[in-house]
Amino acid sequence: MIKENLKNITLNIEKLAKAYASNHKVELLAVSKYTDMDSIKEAFACGQVRFGENKIQDLRLKALKLPSAKWHMIGHLQTNKINAMLELHSEVGLELFESLDSLKLARLLQKHLESKNETLNCLLQVNSAKEESKSGFLEEELLEAYELITRECKNLNVLGLMCIGAHVSDTSVIEKSFKITKDLFDKIGGLSVLSMGMSSDYELAIANGSSLVRIGSAIFKN
Ligand SMILES: *Cc1c(COP(=O)(O)O)cnc(C)c1O
Repeated sequence: MIKENLKNITLNIEKLAKAYASNHKVELLAVSKYTDMDSIKEAFACGQVRFGENKIQDLRLKALKLPSAKWHMIGHLQTNKINAMLELHSEVGLELFESLDSLKLARLLQKHLESKNETLNCLLQVNSAKEESKSGFLEEELLEAYELITRECKNLNVLGLMCIGAHVSDTSVIEKSFKITKDLFDKIGGLSVLSMGMSSDYELAIANGSSLVRIGSAIFKN
């Protein structure tokens, strides 16, 4: 089933990316937080190379078992878990920390990275749906935060933005949260990664310019 799901989703992503713009590319991150190592290895054997986890303990367990995959951290990072993430980064080389969601966290990460003489690729998470349950910079805070982080935190490579679509059934509301994030992405300019879209809304996200979709249940469900 994983093989078939991956094939269908990959083809669909290619088609949607082309419909967005002829030279547009969209990467697929397989979100493995609800699945076990056997399923992850099965997906890897099918050619899926990028995997994401939202808890640092799980990311650590899984990434150490499959260090040749490209791993992303996609969940809120508590400050007491910074060391754990950066240790793992030293061991396996995280491809991307997608959920940098506060100035405080950025400054703490910078301090640790500087002392280790290492860099970390990251995305700024935008709470474009303005949902209290979500972390991230608000639309009106984002540009200033980007300026400050790129100026002060030289060991963080800010490659782009990430958002989670509004948690509602009204697609126009979900689309608005994507459009807000895309507008910020364009305003900053020169960024390379726009991470938007999950199993239920990745088609809409790609239609709004996403370059990285994070899909879990649609790949790993039976
Ligand atoms: C779980 C999760 C996903 C994937 O969700 P699905 O609905 O299973 O595709 C994507 N992004 C984040 C940040 C997540 O926590």
